[in-house]
Amino acid sequence: MRELLRQIPKVDRFLSDKELLALVEGKPLFFLKKAVNDTLAELRLQISQGRVTEIDYDSLKEKVKRRLLELLRPKLHKVINATGVVLHTNLGRAPISRSVAEHLVEVITGYSNLEYDLEKGRRGLRYRNLEWILKELTGAEDVCVVNNNAGAVLLVLSALAKGKEVIVSRGELIEIGGSFRIPDVMAQSGAVLREVGTTNKTHLRDYEEAITEETALLMKVHTSNYKILGFTASVPTRELVELGRKYGVPVYEDLGSGSFIDVRKLGLSYEPTVQDVLKSGVDVVSFSGDKLLGGAQAGIILGRRELLQRIKRHPLNRALRIDKMTLAVLEATLVYYLEESLAFKEIPVWKLLSQPKEAIKAKAKELVKIMEHENFKGKLTIIEDEAEVGGGALPLQRLPTYCVKISVKGLPAEEIDRRMRSFAVPVVGRIKKDAYLLDMMTVFEEEIPQVAENLLKLGEEA
Ligand SMILES: *Cc1c(COP(=O)(O)O)cnc(C)c1O
Repeated sequence: MRELLRQIPKVDRFLSDKELLALVEGKPLFFLKKAVNDTLAELRLQISQGRVTEIDYDSLKEKVKRRLLELLRPKLHKVINATGVVLHTNLGRAPISRSVAEHLVEVITGYSNLEYDLEKGRRGLRYRNLEWILKELTGAEDVCVVNNNAGAVLLVLSALAKGKEVIVSRGELIEIGGSFRIPDVMAQSGAVLREVGTTNKTHLRDYEEAITEETALLMKVHTSNYKILGFTASVPTRELVELGRKYGVPVYEDLGSGSFIDVRKLGLSYEPTVQDVLKSGVDVVSFSGDKLLGGAQAGIILGRRELLQRIKRHPLNRALRIDKMTLAVLEATLVYYLEESLAFKEIPVWKLLSQPKEAIKAKAKELVKIMEHENFKGKLTIIEDEAEVGGGALPLQRLPTYCVKISVKGLPAEEIDRRMRSFAVPVVGRIKKDAYLLDMMTVFEEEIPQVAENLLKLGEEA
């Protein structure tokens, strides 16, 4: 054992190895040092356990190299989404297009006119570049954009209802992912929740009976991630607006996802668009920038000028302001909505959601073709299934899709799943009834070769 320990190569030998040094070129040497130290520590442990009989520099170097490559990969990196959930909150929600990303790169790698008025040569307004497009698309009188929709709800309530009452239907007191709960946000804003109706039914008279001198807002919340079926009733936005007008109380709708395009065009059942909600007369509406809108994480608030002025002047607005990256992505994405056919083509979320069934099947066939050509040891079967929009948008609504079912002798679905997630470009699929599925709805055409590469490695390991 002592002899083996004595034979361990010196750290410096690795640190002066040209091949290893080339791998950290331009990156901190820290990564190579750590890879060497980790590898040698492991070796010492193995020696002490009597599990090593000889020491060879080249095989140790191979281990250092592998560890180094792992360490060098950023912790936040690309994955391939084969879950069939288009807006997958855990996988980064909305992907953005290359053309939008190119614009972003140009804006952020140098200086920009973020808060500079080039005509006047002095300080300008941060949101000027977004206001025009949002007004153009929706007809809203005024606009405010913050960090996310959760922030938007908090800001609207703080600015318009602090110390006063907000009337909300009991059936809309929702919790969505990441501990966002309407009653808690309400408490945080300093507004007082006045809950009306019952879990399954709320009528216009319930709101009307609750209105007092203390009422600051009537609030409607999109029940994004659940639905009550059966004996139910809720008050349409338009009726709530009429009631609000009668008593001089503004109406605010948290739309959650917020789409600019009618989802019936995807074969789904009707959901009001942002434009519909504004047309029905609400005073303020808010929604996310990276759900069905398909842009960057943001909370977009639209509505009547005098209310938006109060919202924009509130100190929380400054605390929740968005940065230039978000602005660049949102502006470049929103422009496509000026021509709907372009939105379907250029905004990845809409491109994925509107894929013809046959196009999804073609991707499945492409994958199977590559694998057959490469003599993959497992079995691939194309099956029909259902994908979902996700992101807490349109619960219960499903889209037809095709999946490639993978079976490999001796590997249970959970094990295939674990290994597919362990590669340099991880693939996240889904398991249904003990079968491992790759849902091709959310796999981009250009990702298919990478999926195939992972599958081949999986087959070899097995
Ligand atoms: C998603 C959602 C939110 C939160 O939006 P984020 O942009 O994720 O902060 C708030 N309200 C509703 C109804 C939602 O669906």
